[in-house]
Amino acid sequence: MSDGFKSNGAIYALFGGTFDPIHYGHLLPVAALAEEVGLQRITLLPNHVPPHRPQPEANAQQRLRMVELATENDPLFSVDERELHRTTPSYTIDTLEELRREQGSDTPMAFIIGQDSLLTLHYWHRWQSLLDYCHLLVCGRSGYADRLDTPELECWLDAHRTTDVNALEQQPNGLIYLAHTPLLDISATDIRQRHHNQMNCDDLLPKNVQQYIQQQGLYR
Ligand code: ATP
Repeated sequence: MSDGFKSNGAIYALFGGTFDPIHYGHLLPVAALAEEVGLQRITLLPNHVPPHRPQPEANAQQRLRMVELATENDPLFSVDERELHRTTPSYTIDTLEELRREQGSDTPMAFIIGQDSLLTLHYWHRWQSLLDYCHLLVCGRSGYADRLDTPELECWLDAHRTTDVNALEQQPNGLIYLAHTPLLDISATDIRQRHHNQMNCDDLLPKNVQQYIQQQGLYR
């Protein structure tokens, strides 16, 4: 915000992902987003991957541990393990429904995604209901289109889009904010591939996560 006034500490912000592994492409854009929007806390939500989808290479415990290591000294972040503890996979919308019940109807809630996820959001279970529970905060991602697939999706985006960060705490859900966060060309797929090929990943993820990957023999 131009006047430096940050008023959005009241927003309950969540960032879901597979985090196989967590990397700077996750951490740095969302930290910049917190600055831009004035978020005081971001809750990371590692997801349970359904058995019929391609499985992460690291198991749930290992993905959780990497998220904990990456965020352990940063008060901006906390971790919510609920999706990993479920015996059945759940959709994001189910978790948002549960969190909305816990937080009450007035708390502004926001779900953070990257541009690649925005582009495929219309394949998510009950995607049109997501905004009934939360705002969407979108971090840009290099190599992905700016525009959505169809005019109908663009219309949906325009109908919900705001450029005013203050609006995000003035209503509990329903808005989409496209952030001006740094573009980092980093993906977990690339990191796993680099590990397979024994290439250096020092600039791509925190050192303690790297050490854990080595220690556990992951991504070989
Ligand atoms: P993979 O390469 O295995 O598909 P990923 O690097 O995309 O993984 P995920 O855990 O699937 O990581 O992503 C979680 C969320 O983080 C998604 O909303 C995704 O869009 C976002 N994200 C991941 N990497 C970046 C990045 N470099 N910049 C911005 N957003 C990102």
